[in-house]
Amino acid sequence: MAKPLFWNNSKRYYDLKSFWKNRFGCRVHKLPIDAGFTCPNRDGSVAVGGCIYCDSRGSALRMAGPLPTVAEQLRRGKAHYRPGAEKFVAYFQTYTNTYGPVEKLKSLYDEALAEEDVIGLSIGTRPDCVPDETLALIRSYGAKAHVWLEFGLQSLQDRTLREINRGHDAAAFFDAVQRAAGGPILLCVHLIVGLPGESRAEILETARTIAGLPIDGIKIHSLLALAGTELGERYKRGEIPMLSRDEYVETVCDILEILPPEMVVQRLTADGYREIFLGPEWATNKLAVLNAIDGELKRRDSWQGLRHQE
Ligand code: SF4
Repeated sequence: MAKPLFWNNSKRYYDLKSFWKNRFGCRVHKLPIDAGFTCPNRDGSVAVGGCIYCDSRGSALRMAGPLPTVAEQLRRGKAHYRPGAEKFVAYFQTYTNTYGPVEKLKSLYDEALAEEDVIGLSIGTRPDCVPDETLALIRSYGAKAHVWLEFGLQSLQDRTLREINRGHDAAAFFDAVQRAAGGPILLCVHLIVGLPGESRAEILETARTIAGLPIDGIKIHSLLALAGTELGERYKRGEIPMLSRDEYVETVCDILEILPPEMVVQRLTADGYREIFLGPEWATNKLAVLNAIDGELKRRDSWQGLRHQE
C-alpha cells in the first residue's frame, strides 16, 4: 500500500488539520469550551472519584472563577486564533458534555452554533452517557453542521477499564458506537498508551478492534501522572511504571500502521497540567514526541494504514 494521496499532506498519518483543509478548503481551529458539566463517574451516579488519572479541577477557566458563557468563550477563542484560522469548531471538552437533560444540551449546542464562523461541534463524552434521545439531538445538527462525538475509552480491555475506574466496560462502548454510527455524526475515540498493567499486545489488540469499527477519528496520548489524582499518588509511591519515550513512540507507530488510512488522527500527545504534572518527564516536550513519531515512521518507511489489511 502506498501513502494515500487524499491526505494531501507531508505527514505519514492523516492529521486533523489536513482533514479540515481538504474538507473545507481553509484553516479550521478547534476551540475548547468548559460548559460547566460534571461527570457521572465523579458525582456518584456511576462512581465517585472518577478515573484514577482524571484531574478533578476541571478547566483552567473553571478554576479562575465563574464560567463565561459558551458564546463568550468562543468569542475569546476566535479573537485569539484569528487571523490564522478562518472557521472554528466548538469543542465541548471539560468532563462529560452529554451529561444533562436534552433541553439543556440543546441550548448549549445551539448557543455555540449561533456564533459566526463556528461551523461545527465536537462533543466529548463517555460511552455510557449517550442515551438515544441525546444521540437524536446530536444527529439533528449533522445536516447543517460538522459534528464529532468523542468517546473517552482508553482501552478495550475490561481488566484495564476496572483498574483505572472507568465505570463502564467495553460492551458499553460497542453499544454506543453501534447506536451512534451510520451518520451524520463523526465518531472519535480516545486511547491512552501505557495504562497500569496493560501490555503493548493489549493496546494493539484494542487498536485492531477500533480499526474494524465505524470510527472516523482517534486521539492517542501517553499515561500522565498528575498531582491530586489516585494515579499520581501511586506514581509517587513508585507503584506505576511509566513507558519510556521510545516505548511510547514505537507503540504509537504500531497503532498508526494498524488504523485505516482514512481515520483522522486528532492527537498523538497530551499537554497542559504544567502545575500538577508529575511524570513522565519526556511527555512535557510535546514537539519532541511528535518529531520522534515522525522520525520512527520515516525510519520504518511506514505510515498510517500500512498494516491495516493484514
Ligand atoms: S470519564 Fe472523563 S471526566 Fe469522567 S472521571 Fe473519567 S476522565 Fe474524568
